[in-house]
Amino acid sequence: MALRKLVAGNWKMNGTLAALAELDGIAAAAAENGGVDVAICPPFTLIAPAVARAPSLAIGAQDCHGQAKGAHTGCISAPMLVETGAKLAIVGHSERRADQHETDAEVRAKASAAIAAGLVAIVCVGETEAQRDAGEAEAVVASQLDGSIPGEGTGVSLVVAYEPVWAIGTGRTPSTGDVAAMHAAIRAKLTALLGAEGAKVRILYGGSVKPDNAKELLAVADVDGALVGGASLTAAQFVPIIEGAVAASA
Ligand code: PEP
Repeated sequence: MALRKLVAGNWKMNGTLAALAELDGIAAAAAENGGVDVAICPPFTLIAPAVARAPSLAIGAQDCHGQAKGAHTGCISAPMLVETGAKLAIVGHSERRADQHETDAEVRAKASAAIAAGLVAIVCVGETEAQRDAGEAEAVVASQLDGSIPGEGTGVSLVVAYEPVWAIGTGRTPSTGDVAAMHAAIRAKLTALLGAEGAKVRILYGGSVKPDNAKELLAVADVDGALVGGASLTAAQFVPIIEGAVAASA
């Protein structure tokens, strides 16, 4: 089943107010390419200004807490994000799994909190280079999905991003054959976990998606979009990726 593709940008810890000028070109491209969904996830501080500057664009967050409120200094909850105008939340990005030691259980709680608040949760999974070299990539990702996917997730409320850790920010990507094999395995696991809804959950590929490889990666079976880091920071780089997604959808 071909799902409508989603191209989501993750700005990570990049951008101050001046960066929002990039949204003008991205929002225009999103409007011109209505066949795909487009989202940008800037730092928390830019979410409300981004919504104000580009009201037609889906703006998301890069994290949320697993609880709606409480004594968690420095954290941001999903209901708070909703108030800013956010529509999505990335959870379980490998940088947070590594830097903040987030566990699968915490990621699942964050995804559930996001969904409960009305956000789309983008749950990230992916193996390290050592795990791939050891032939463990599919087992690692299956285990992450077992632990991180909320049972209430649906094709509307949940997105999965497969991001091999060794491909993030490195300019390296898996072969299209390896991407196809992993996305097929993720699809099978989602169907096992979520039943019929598992067939409707979009599975994004992430890791060094660029203008010159986007169409090829996005044309792979069960690649329902892309999560893009570095190349989402400018309209000049991100718009061709949106166009690649449209071309791959044709
Ligand atoms: C990411 O961090 O989600 C990512 C995919 O980064 P990049 O596109 O820069 O590899």
